[in-house]
Amino acid sequence: MRFRAFPIPAFPDPMPDTHDTPASTGTSLQGAVSPAEWTLRCELAAAHRLVAHFAFVDMTYNHISARCPDNPGHFLVKADNVFMEQVTASNLVKYDLSGKQVMASAWKASPAAYNVHASVLSARPEIMAAVHTHSPANLAVSAQADGLLPLTQQAMRFYERIAYYPNEVDDTTREGTDFMAKALGDKWVMILENHGALVCGTTIAEAYIYHHFFELACRAQIGALAGGVKLKMPSHETCVERARKFGRIGAYDSKSRDWVASMALVEKHYPDYRS
Ligand SMILES: [Zn+2]
Repeated sequence: MRFRAFPIPAFPDPMPDTHDTPASTGTSLQGAVSPAEWTLRCELAAAHRLVAHFAFVDMTYNHISARCPDNPGHFLVKADNVFMEQVTASNLVKYDLSGKQVMASAWKASPAAYNVHASVLSARPEIMAAVHTHSPANLAVSAQADGLLPLTQQAMRFYERIAYYPNEVDDTTREGTDFMAKALGDKWVMILENHGALVCGTTIAEAYIYHHFFELACRAQIGALAGGVKLKMPSHETCVERARKFGRIGAYDSKSRDWVASMALVEKHYPDYRS
């Protein structure tokens, strides 16, 4: 039997070209930037590897930023053409809070990436790092009308501490991301409705660790709601107390045991993160 050959429609014009730079050019920025910036670059690259390891990679569309130690008006963020698992200390790119790339690099970030982080870091000087992801679990919760429910201890950390951002403006433009930063208000975690999550911290370690807890909370919620049985909903008082005790901002830095263990994992499995 012969299969009929259907004509294959031509693709429209190719996607706008970004650039052909591979994840590594073999040139390290170690020595070209300050020791403090190099340390930050290594931690930020490690955080990307950890999200890839434990959560999910939505192609090239998710990113983490960190404010530069030598200039709070500058930040580093993931390049537009690499997966989280391909981020290295040297392929992170540097922007200012206006969204302008400020250090020569073979890479650049996508407007969606630098605009989100520029807006959030401009609006909130105390935020030092921010994680933005679309994991299957946080996407699912972002599509649920009641958002994150306090069904688990992980979720209770975020009780009454989550901002919600409606998916109604173009969040790849600076105008849209400024609106997003306004929606964050004084919170540190935001569910981007029908879109994903934004988790911020006073350090890279903190943003990453809270993102991890948030991811677990979302996975557990999806599982619990799919179980088809009556759920145990803790009291308001229990949730408030849990959030007060275990959801404190400023609790995690590079010496925190979770981050030390996380860095050891990256060192073992993904040692090229610091190239
Ligand atoms: Zn997104």
